[in-house]
Amino acid sequence: MTVPLIELRNICRRYATGSVSVAALEDVDLVIQPGEFVAVMGPSGSGKSTLMNIIGCLDRPSDGEYYFRGEAVHRADADELARLRREVFGFVFQSYNLLGMATARENVEIPAIYAGTPRRARASRATSLLKGVGLSHRLRHQPGELSGGEQQRVAIARALMNGGRVVLADEPTGSLDSASGREIIALLEALSNQGHTIILVTHDPNVAAHAHRRIQLLDGHVVADDGLGLPSNAGTNTPTQADPHNTVTRAPVSSFRDSVRTAMRALRTNRLRTSLTLLGIIIGVLSVTAMLGLAEGVQRGIMDSFRLLGGASLQIQPSFDQDGRATTLTIADADAIRDEVPNVISVTPQMSGGARILAGGATQFARFTATTAVSMASGPWTLAEGVYFTASQDRNHEPVVVLGGILAGALFGEQGNAVGEHILLDGSPYQVIGVLKRPEDTGYHYHAYGFFVPLRTGAIRLLNKESLDTVGVLVAETHQVDAAQRAIDALLVRRHGQRDFQIQNQEAALEAQNNVSNILRMLFGAIGGISLVVAGIGVMNIMLATVAERTREIGLRMAIGARRRDILFQFICEAVVVAGLGGIVGLGLALVVGEAINMIGATVMAFTAPILLIGLSCATLTGLFFGLAPARRAAGMDPVAALAAQ
Ligand code: ADP
Repeated sequence: MTVPLIELRNICRRYATGSVSVAALEDVDLVIQPGEFVAVMGPSGSGKSTLMNIIGCLDRPSDGEYYFRGEAVHRADADELARLRREVFGFVFQSYNLLGMATARENVEIPAIYAGTPRRARASRATSLLKGVGLSHRLRHQPGELSGGEQQRVAIARALMNGGRVVLADEPTGSLDSASGREIIALLEALSNQGHTIILVTHDPNVAAHAHRRIQLLDGHVVADDGLGLPSNAGTNTPTQADPHNTVTRAPVSSFRDSVRTAMRALRTNRLRTSLTLLGIIIGVLSVTAMLGLAEGVQRGIMDSFRLLGGASLQIQPSFDQDGRATTLTIADADAIRDEVPNVISVTPQMSGGARILAGGATQFARFTATTAVSMASGPWTLAEGVYFTASQDRNHEPVVVLGGILAGALFGEQGNAVGEHILLDGSPYQVIGVLKRPEDTGYHYHAYGFFVPLRTGAIRLLNKESLDTVGVLVAETHQVDAAQRAIDALLVRRHGQRDFQIQNQEAALEAQNNVSNILRMLFGAIGGISLVVAGIGVMNIMLATVAERTREIGLRMAIGARRRDILFQFICEAVVVAGLGGIVGLGLALVVGEAINMIGATVMAFTAPILLIGLSCATLTGLFFGLAPARRAAGMDPVAALAAQ
C-alpha cells in the first residue's frame, strides 16, 4: 500500500478565548492521495481556513496526528514546518497577498529566495511560470497595475515557484468577477491535470463542481466526503519541474544581497520617514566623530607644545654633598654621554655663576653661563653683532664673552659698539666677541641680562671648578627618551661607581597629559554617544512602526517558506542599512565641518582612520542594537495571525 500524501488523524484545533475554549476543528480524519483535486466546503466559521492552515503547516493542531508522506508533521519544529511550506506547499489567497512594491516577477521569485535558488535560475523560472499563466507581457508590472484576475495568476505562479506539489487555495475566486474566476479555476484544473495536488476552499458549488472530491465541514467536523476522486491520469504525472523532494532541504538564510535590496525598497517607500531616521543617525555620527576629532586635535596641540618645551629632553643634575656642594658631574661625563649614548642629538653641559664686570668706568654684577660652542650656537637667541665663540676657543679656555642685549646696552650705551671691546671680569681682561639681540617681548630672559663664556673658560678662569651644574640631553624622538635615560644612567653609574646624580625627564608630565587626554576623549565621546543613542531610539521607533505596518507581509513571507531567522535577518538588515547610510553621510559631513573649522583656525580637528572607523561602526552597531528588538518582534509573529492582520 502506498503512503498517503496527507493523513490527518483525530485532528483538533482549539482556540482559548478568555475562559472558554472554542474548537475550530474536532476529531478530523482525512486522507488525501497525491494528485487529488479536493474542494473543502462549508458555512462560514465551520473550520475551513483552520483546516487549510494546519494542512499547509502554518498552524499546528492542538491534538491529533498529521503525517505528510509518512513524516510526522505534528512533531516538527518551526524550521521544519517552514521547510515544508517552502518546498511542498503553495498558497493562493483570496486577497492575492502580493508585495505591492515588487514587480510581478519579483513576487513570483520570493519563495525561491528563501530556498536559496541562484538569482539567474530564479529569474528564468519566474519568467516561464508567468508565461505559463499567460502573463509574459506583465513581468515588470507592480500589483497595483494589474487586474484582480492577473494578480491571482501571479499568486498561482508564486505558489508553483518551488515546485508547488500541493497548492492550497483559500477562496481564490472570492474577490474576482465570474470571468476571471473561471480563468483561475481553469488554471487550477490544468495544474491538477499536470499532477499537482489541489486543495481548494470555496463557498461556490459551481467552483466545487470542478474538483474531483468534495469535503463538507460543519462546526469543525467533516460531515460529508464524496470519497477519493482521482482523475484518470492522477499519480502518473509528476508536478512540473523541480520536484521539491529533490531540492536542497537546508536552505541558507536568504542572501545578504536580497535582504539589502528588500531593505532599500522598503526604505524608499516611505521617504519622509526614512529621511528623518537618517537625519537622526547623521547627527549622531556627526557628533561622535566631531567630538572624537576635537579631542584628538586638542591632544595633538598639547603634545606639540610639549615637544617645544622639551618633550624629548633629559636633564642630568649632580647630587649635593653634605656641604651643599654639587661636584659629581663633570665635563668628561658630558663628553662620554655625547660619544656613547645612542639617539642623542645634542648634549649641553652647563655651569653658571656670577662675576663683577668693569667696563667703561662702570662696575656691575651679572650672572653668566658657561657652555659649549655648539650649545651657544643652537640656543633660543640670535646674535645682534659679532660671532659666537668656537670649539677651539673653548678647548683653549680663551677669555672671550658674548653679552646679552640688555647687559651690553647697560655697559656700552644703547648705541655703543661693544664687539671688540675689552671688559674686566673679576679683575681679568676678556674680549667681547658677540652681542645677542634683545628679546622682543619684555619678559625676563636670563640670557638678556647676563653673558656667556666658553665652558672651560668658565671652569678654569672664572669658577675654578670641574663640576657641572647641569647637563641637558636632547633625544631624537620622544619614544626614545626612556631608552636614552636608561643608557645614561648605566653609563654614569659605571663611571662614578655610584648613583650620585639625578636624571629628570618630562615623562611624569607627559603621563599626566595623557590621562587628561583620555578623560577628554571619553567625555567628548560620551557627549557624541548620547546623540547616537537618541538616534538609535529613533531607529527602533521607526522599525517598530514598520514591523506593525508590514505584519501581513511578514505573514506572507512565512507562509511561503521564510524561517524566523530569515525574517529576523531581513529587519535587522533594514535597520543596519539605514544606520549605515546615515553613518556614511554623517562621516562625510564631519570631515567637511572639521575642514571648515580648521580653516577658520579656531580649533584643530584631527580625524584619524580609527576615529572614522569608530564613527561608522557606531552607526552600524546602533542599527544592529536598536533594530534587534523590532526584528525579533517580527520574527516571533504567528504566521496565521500575521496573515490575518489588516
Ligand atoms: P471558516 O474558514 O470556515 O470560516 P475558520 O477556520 O476561520 O472558519 O474558523 C473556525 C472557528 O474557529 C470559528 O468559530 C472561528 O471563530 C474560530 N477561530 C478561528 N480563528 C480563531 C482565533 N485566532 N481565535 C479564536 N477563534 C478562532
